[in-house]
Amino acid sequence: MSIAENIARVKERIHAAARRGARNGDEISRMAVTKTVGPDRIREAYDAGIRSFGENRVQEFQAKREALRDLFAAQWHMIGHLQTNKAAAASELFGAIDSLDSLRLAQKLDAAAAQLNKKIPVLIEINIGGEEAKSGLAPNSPDLEALLNSAPQLPALEFCGLMTVPPYDDNPEKSRPYFQRMRELFTEISQRRLPAVTMKILSMGMSHDFEIAIEEGSTCVRVGTAIFGERLRSQP
Ligand SMILES: *Cc1c(COP(=O)(O)O)cnc(C)c1O
Repeated sequence: MSIAENIARVKERIHAAARRGARNGDEISRMAVTKTVGPDRIREAYDAGIRSFGENRVQEFQAKREALRDLFAAQWHMIGHLQTNKAAAASELFGAIDSLDSLRLAQKLDAAAAQLNKKIPVLIEINIGGEEAKSGLAPNSPDLEALLNSAPQLPALEFCGLMTVPPYDDNPEKSRPYFQRMRELFTEISQRRLPAVTMKILSMGMSHDFEIAIEEGSTCVRVGTAIFGERLRSQP
C-alpha cells in the first residue's frame, strides 16, 4: 500500500469512528507523525493532503527542515518531550508545541516566542495513566493548576487544549477508560473559563487506538505507523 492509500484508509476509518460516536468526521484533524520518516515520504503525505505533522525530537526535525521548506502549508508540531534547554530552538522550528509538560518549559517557550514575535499554540500534555516513564502532568495536580493559572502571564503562548498518550496495550479497548477521563478533564477545565485558556483541541489516539479515541471525543489523532508503516528504529 502506498502512503496515499494508507492516508485514504485512515480517513475512512476516522469517518466511520466519528459516525459511531455521533460526531462529524470533518471536525477531527489528522496529524501524520513523521519521526524516523525521511523528507521524501513526508512530501508524499503532504501531496496526499496532509497538512499537520508531528515530530518528537528537535534535532531530528532540524536535520529535515531545510528539505521541506517548500511545503508552505505544512504545520509542524512538536509532540515529544522537550527539554528546557531546547525551548528556543523548538520555538523557532515548530508552529505548535503539543507536549507542554511544565511551567518552567512554558516560561522558556514564552520568552523565546516573544523574542521571535511569535504566538505559539500549545497543548498541555497529561500523563493520564500516571506512568513513571512518561512525561506529562497528572490530572488535578498542583503542577497542572499552576500552569493553567499562569496562562495570563505567558502572552506569547496560546493555550488551546490537552494531549495524552495512554499506557500502551495491544488491546485498544484498554485505552478507552483513559480517553474517557481525558474527555472529562477537558470538559471540566473548559467549564472553569480560566483566563487565557481555551479548550478546543483534545489530541489523543495513535495508529492502534485512534478509533476508540474518536468515539470518546478526540479532536486530533496522531498517526504514524498506519500511514508510513512500521518504524525501523524503536522509538518511545
Ligand atoms: C510516535 C507517536 C505517535 C504515533 O504513533 P503510531 O503508533 O506510529 O501511530 C503519536 N503520538 C506521539 C506522542 C508519538 O510519539
